[in-house]
Amino acid sequence: MKLLVIWEKFRNFSVRFTQPHKHNRVQRYLFPVILILFVYILKILLSTIIFRGLPFLLSTFIVVLSSWYGGIGPGILATILTAILSNFLFLEPGLSFSGLENALTTTIFLIQGLFISIISEAKRNADLQKDSFISFASHELKNPLTVIKSYNTLLGRSLKGKNSLKMKGFIARIDSQVDKITNLINDLLDVTKIASGKLILNKETLAIYSMLQDIIRDQQLLSPTHKIKFYGKSYKKIYADRIRISEVFINIINNAVKYSPGRRSIIVSITGKRNSVVVSVQDFGIGLSEQEKEKIFEQFYRAPGTKVEGLGLGLYIAQQIVILHQGKIWVESKLNKGSIFYVELPIYTNNILRR
Ligand code: ADP
Repeated sequence: MKLLVIWEKFRNFSVRFTQPHKHNRVQRYLFPVILILFVYILKILLSTIIFRGLPFLLSTFIVVLSSWYGGIGPGILATILTAILSNFLFLEPGLSFSGLENALTTTIFLIQGLFISIISEAKRNADLQKDSFISFASHELKNPLTVIKSYNTLLGRSLKGKNSLKMKGFIARIDSQVDKITNLINDLLDVTKIASGKLILNKETLAIYSMLQDIIRDQQLLSPTHKIKFYGKSYKKIYADRIRISEVFINIINNAVKYSPGRRSIIVSITGKRNSVVVSVQDFGIGLSEQEKEKIFEQFYRAPGTKVEGLGLGLYIAQQIVILHQGKIWVESKLNKGSIFYVELPIYTNNILRR
């Protein structure tokens, strides 16, 4: 789990790193220069193990990082600087190229660097276009859905008192289908926000026990087929985004209901530890195999043969939200026996505000 947290931190860092519009022009153009200096110092330190092919690797490394960080301009600057300086800075004196060889190497450096800069710029533009398309399309889809939902509610009200059970059934179905589409759209929007590092959290101190009580009460109303039991008690407070962290628990409880058809009970428990609280959600349903367990937190993953509707995004989003709260989420499960999902969140202390 620790490795996963480190990986996610690295991923979030790299998302921020590769957004040139977040760095100002001086930073973007200074970056390749500083990188070249750094690599040169490294080369001096590692001079005993330097080998002939290294300048190519170093120049590639410098150009890739510069174009990721600063975009095409700094990428090209890094290309030109490494091409000019490679002979003076990076090669051992005895190995320096000369004549035609030198010209050829420099040309290859230049072409390689140009390609890298252009390709990474094109990829970034494609990603930006994809994200803005999803976000634009999602907002455009949400507006008419809101209108449909309001008219549907009005229609339902106008039928009040009338003996039209069938019509009321239709209206309820429209309502739940509109809710499903809205949830799918929200999931897609969340995924694009996570990918671009734009998932903003509004954290506050929260009494997690009473928050869970509210969630369980609401979910119980929506899932009459199951009895959701709540065990344990904790007066600890967490520092979290109420809406986002509620989403995590709602998703796991929903899944417990969805993936335990024909079973009656779901058990939610809360345990206070010294610096954290652990919430578990247990079901006695279809469970997961060892291989499935490894993959369920990935985007769009759904266990083979899953018959219930879904996109395979809920647990991915839940995991990202938990990680953004410096917490952990994991699962224990046995095929056909059921699953227990755990969420561990740090408790509120003054230190947490500084993180
Ligand atoms: P969705 O439920 O929309 O498919 P999730 O990301 O919430 O997406 O879940 C991913 C997959 O993990 C599900 O498709 C299902 O195969 C598996 N899964 C999640 N929760 C459970 C559970 N409580 N029991 C068994 N399988 C589960």
